[in-house]
Order: sequence, then structure tokens, then C-alpha cells
Amino acid sequence: MKEDDLTNILIVEDSRTQAMRLKFILEGHGYKVTTAENGVQALKLLDGGGIQTVITDWIMPEMDGVQFCKAVRKKKIPGYIFIILVTAKDSLDDLITGLDAGADDYLIKPIRPGELLAKLKTAKRVITLERSLRKRTEEVALLSITDPLTHVYNRRYLNDHLPREINRSLRYGHYLSVTMCDIDHFKRVNDTYGHQAGDRVLESFARCLKETVRDGLDWISRYGGEEFVVVMPETDLDGATLAAERYRLMISARQISTNAGIVHITASFGVTTLDPSAGMSHMSAERMLEVADQCMYQAKEGGRNRCVVRPLEKET
Ligand code: GH3
Ligand code: MG
Ligand code: MG
Ligand code: MG
Repeated sequence: MKEDDLTNILIVEDSRTQAMRLKFILEGHGYKVTTAENGVQALKLLDGGGIQTVITDWIMPEMDGVQFCKAVRKKKIPGYIFIILVTAKDSLDDLITGLDAGADDYLIKPIRPGELLAKLKTAKRVITLERSLRKRTEEVALLSITDPLTHVYNRRYLNDHLPREINRSLRYGHYLSVTMCDIDHFKRVNDTYGHQAGDRVLESFARCLKETVRDGLDWISRYGGEEFVVVMPETDLDGATLAAERYRLMISARQISTNAGIVHITASFGVTTLDPSAGMSHMSAERMLEVADQCMYQAKEGGRNRCVVRPLEKET
């Protein structure tokens, strides 16, 4: 079932006659109807996804409508489930109990088709609103961890996630490597070709890293202006050295088109690795980045366009 299909309706009803009557009305108005005989069956169907509107009877064996509403609200379902509770009860106290349990609206038997359809329109409005809100929230969450120029992760993401990678490495006994990359003489690129061309070079540099890192495992963060960090989980020092050497070669071979012409760049790399068998119980992200940075500076001093590698030692 397609998630975005707002016409999917789930009817939860122990009386077959009542269920068929509702199904007939709804299908006559373009809705696609799935039926469940009880709450337990209905919860399973909701787990399958694709349904966001539920019409449930109140009096049912096993799990009544009120218990069902409570169970749905407890569940972690990605989209909002709009629930209409159907009841023969019309006392205000009963209706409050139903709404309190998590129903969004109610219908009193015998159901009048016009009222039913009007309430389903409300359901559509609420679900549409919730979806756009959820989409926007996801977009904002992604923006808050993404560098706007190069579309790699930003420093905030690195600050949050490198400590997690370190904990995972120490807990599960996996190697973890980090490479600090810094473009050589980038100031000259800006001075010679202009700031706009400099921005294109930064984009291209990040793209080159993205194309070269192991998909789905390694990740990149923009650390500062023209400095990037590649985090390589489950990678030992030899593996990380090879990877950094690969980035170095790919970048130096790249012809970067800018509005001011083709630009060639090189970069310097500092690589360090956390060896979980080296008897460390703790390692800070700051220390790991500091060592990678020291290596990168050695690469600069050594003539640039090179990689310098050093394993991490116990913090004293
Ligand atoms: P080195 O080889 O020692 O790293 O020299 P460098 O010129 O690359 O280093 P330096 O730190 O002197 O200069 C970095 C430059 O990066 C200076 C700064 O203006 C530029 N820069 C930082 N962020 C951006 C950006 O977003 N866009 C552009 N175009 N330039 C940037
Ligand atoms: Mg019933
Ligand atoms: Mg720099
Ligand atoms: Mg630089």
C-alpha cells in the first residue's frame, strides 16, 4: 500500500453486516477499504503501513474500541493515525472516555453517510497537515547537520557523532580511523581566481571525497573553511593510509572547472587510528582530531600534497 494514499481506510468491526455496510458506502465514494474483525488484527494491519485513517467500533470482543485507541497511540507508527470511534453510546461521559483514549472523532450509530464522509474529509485535512509538518521537520533536521556549500556534514554533526563512533569502537573492539584533509595554498586559489571560483573548488573537493570514500560506511564533515574530516569506522591504520593516499591522488588529478578557468589543487592529509586492542578505556574526539591535525601540519611542513600517519596513543 502506498504511504501517500489518503483514500485507504481501515474498518475495525466485529459485525460483518455492519462492516460490509460501511465498506459499501466508502467504496462508493472512492475509498479503498481494508477490514479487521478485532483490535489485535487491526494493530497488525497498521504495522504494515499505508493506512492512516481508521474507523473502529466501540464494543468488540478481545479488545474494545477504547483499548484499541490507547494501543494505537502507544505505538511508534511514523505517520499520524486518525481514529473515528463508532458507538451506540451517546452520553457525554462515554464520548469523553473515547476521545480521552486517543480517538480524534466519533460517529453515533446508526451512521449517516453524509456525516461519515464529512468526518473523513477532516481526517484528510489533519493527515495532510501532519505530513507536511513532519516533512518540514525532517528537512530542518537535515539542514541543521549539513554544510550549505558542500552538502557534507557540518562541524556540529562531527561534534555529536565522532564521540559515538569512538564509543562504538571501544565497546565492540573495532578500529576507527580519522583523516584530516586541508587544501594546499587555498588562499592563492581565492587570490588568483576569485572567491566564487574558490567556492566551486571547495564543492568539487567535497564531491571528490564523496565519490572516493566507502559508500554507507565512511562519512565526511566540513571541519572549517578548507578543512574536511573523513571518519572511517572499522578501518585500521594501513586501510586508512591507503584510503587517504587514494583521496590525495584523486584530488591532485582533478580538473576543476570554474568561471575563471580550470583549477588544479592538491591537499595534505593527517591520518590517525584508534586501535581498540591498545588498552584504552577512553579516548576523546578532541584528542583524536588533535593528532590528525598534527599529522596534517607535518604533511604541510614536509612539502604538502602528502599523507602523514600516526597511531593514537593512550591519553595521559
Ligand atoms: P596551506 O597550504 O598552509 O593550508 O595554505 P592555505 O592558503 O590553504 O591556508 P590558509 O589557512 O592561509 O587559507 C585558507 C583560506 O581558505 C583562507 C580563506 O579565505 C579561505 N576560505 C575559507 N572558507 C572559504 C569559503 O567558504 N570559500 C572560499 N572561497 N574560501 C574560503
Ligand atoms: Mg461491535
Ligand atoms: Mg586550513
Ligand atoms: Mg589550506
